[in-house]
Amino acid sequence: MDKQVHEKELLIPSLKIIYENPGITTSELIKELEKVIVLYEKDQKILNNRNDTYFSQTVRNLCGSHSLTNEFGKCVTISKNGSVNSFVINKKGLELLDIDSADNIDDISEDEIYQNEISEGDSIYAGNELNDLKNRIPEQKSKSSSTRYKTDAKLARTVLKMNNYECENAKLLGVEHKTFISKKGVQYQEAHHLIPMKAQKDFIQNLDVFENIVCLCPLCHKAIHNANRDGKLDILTRIYGAKISSLKSIGINVSLEDLYNNYYV
Ligand SMILES: [Zn+2]
Ligand SMILES: [Zn+2]
Repeated sequence: MDKQVHEKELLIPSLKIIYENPGITTSELIKELEKVIVLYEKDQKILNNRNDTYFSQTVRNLCGSHSLTNEFGKCVTISKNGSVNSFVINKKGLELLDIDSADNIDDISEDEIYQNEISEGDSIYAGNELNDLKNRIPEQKSKSSSTRYKTDAKLARTVLKMNNYECENAKLLGVEHKTFISKKGVQYQEAHHLIPMKAQKDFIQNLDVFENIVCLCPLCHKAIHNANRDGKLDILTRIYGAKISSLKSIGINVSLEDLYNNYYV
């Protein structure tokens, strides 16, 4: 596979790093990005006759591009011989990051509403009804922003029940993550879409299917969204390994690297 991280995927993560480290140099930015991005095999290969890997070359390309030197940031040369470049973010770059964090707040409140719908309701699908659900066409929510897709709380409830209200990450670790008894008289657990619903625009198949829904305890659920790179990857790798073959069986295929870099960074 010749996949590698694309320059445009690095724009937002780079701007976040530049915002937190004004004046950062290209080589420092490469090191910081390596801490948050998952690299493909090709990214780690050394380019012929160069000191750069494919990844560091991609970052250098971004650093020399209009996006970082003009559009969203500014480049200042700091060494006497003109070889070291240093970056700061500009107003448009700050605006771009703000939009991004507003999106994130929307995601958080959407998830609160979703978990609430799941725990407040009672209905559950019968086993024979599940097969028909995967042919449902992804439907956008009519109100508010048009990029949100409908999720079915009844389906999530069914998945939690199918998992006996046990955290799937814990099960894969061979342990139990006890939470508390909910109003419904069972262990409280949450539903998480392994391929997040915000990725729906990139897939033809409906992502709100039981193959893509994971039963997680609130702590593991928080961790998969909010842990650092290693913490997220730890859970994600385990769950991905357990789910990918059934996802593939319904035509949904994504590599772990793509999943992480595009939807979890
Ligand atoms: Zn989630
Ligand atoms: Zn757990």
